[in-house]
Amino acid sequence: MVQNHRVTVFPGDGIGPEVVDAAREVLDASGVALEWEIHQIGQAALDAGADGPVPEAALASVRENGVALKGPLSTDAGRKLRSPNVALRRALDLYVQVRPVRRFPGVVAPAALDLVLVRIMTEDVNAGIEYLPGSPRARALAAWIAEDGFTVDPDSGFSLKVASASEIRRGVEFAFAWAREHGRRRVTAVHKATIMRATDALLLETARAVGAEHPTIELDDRLLDDAAVQLVRDPGGFDVVVTSNLYGDVLSSLAAGLAGGVGLLAGGSFGDGVAVFEAGHGSAPKYAGQDCANPCGVILSGVLMLRFLGERDAADRVERAVLDVIREGRFLTRDLARDRDGTVVGTRAMAEAIRECVGRPS
Ligand code: NAD
Repeated sequence: MVQNHRVTVFPGDGIGPEVVDAAREVLDASGVALEWEIHQIGQAALDAGADGPVPEAALASVRENGVALKGPLSTDAGRKLRSPNVALRRALDLYVQVRPVRRFPGVVAPAALDLVLVRIMTEDVNAGIEYLPGSPRARALAAWIAEDGFTVDPDSGFSLKVASASEIRRGVEFAFAWAREHGRRRVTAVHKATIMRATDALLLETARAVGAEHPTIELDDRLLDDAAVQLVRDPGGFDVVVTSNLYGDVLSSLAAGLAGGVGLLAGGSFGDGVAVFEAGHGSAPKYAGQDCANPCGVILSGVLMLRFLGERDAADRVERAVLDVIREGRFLTRDLARDRDGTVVGTRAMAEAIRECVGRPS
């Protein structure tokens, strides 16, 4: 019997609606019965008259369906609003994000590149606990820190780096579980425990404790700076990487750069009973509405989603179609065609080529 899957869709803003629409058409062609429930969040929700960037109806939809496909959300650089991405993560308790990075045939990249980054999402310096410079709280905090003998300018702003053993443990356990379920052999913890004893040392200690519970999976660890060098020089040395929020963000972008660009970066964020799949890129506002953005990041996020839904055959077919179209090089968006002789096509045409390929017998 064909199972129906109800999926919440957040088209997002900027290039989001174009790439998400393109991805939905490709995923529909896989034959899986997907019922899409569209909700606006972020700037699009505010434009539609919602009283906040993450409306309750949108959250209720993901909670009920257990799964969402999400486009990028612009963050107000002037920070009148809190980041809608952080708000969504918090509301759904999406505690970990997985970003696989691999080499695509036809794209210039190191042959051995095939790793999965697991990023612990709930805490760390970019989790949004901030005190603006000059605010009464920031001044009070500066005074309090000064009492402990540290030199802090009274007008300082603070973006706090926070880590707890419990949050790190569930992130690290997720990384080991992912490694086990996906036939991966090694987990590398990336940290700066040498200088951040209150936070990163917890990550290292926890990784060692959880690693001891998983004797079939090798554990190693690297300092962040060393990891960045090794990722470029010897990416084959990494299998599953588990790290904190900001390091994971930067390392996944570095790895995506090695793999051919951020337009190919897929991801999924997981909480208890809920998963949100989204590309690793942002809303690229300068390309919005121009039918030129690479749709592969969202399509490949959809592949992760199909696997999560238990639709492995369909996931494999869509993934193969993406790989085939990239390898053939006849229908590539500008970012992918740059280093090759292929014709440049738009978002829709590339997605259409992938869609046709999904239906083609292998
Ligand atoms: P970005 O990822 O939007 O763009 C970075 C570069 O990559 C740009 O040159 C862009 O043109 C290119 N690019 C991105 N996606 C592409 C695609 N699909 N195809 C081809 N080229 C692509 O990052 P940014 O410029 O730092 O951020 C823009 C906005 O997106 C900001 O408001 C930021 O806060 C937001 N953002 C959102 C998310 C998210 O929703 N998860 C993630 C990152 C950034």
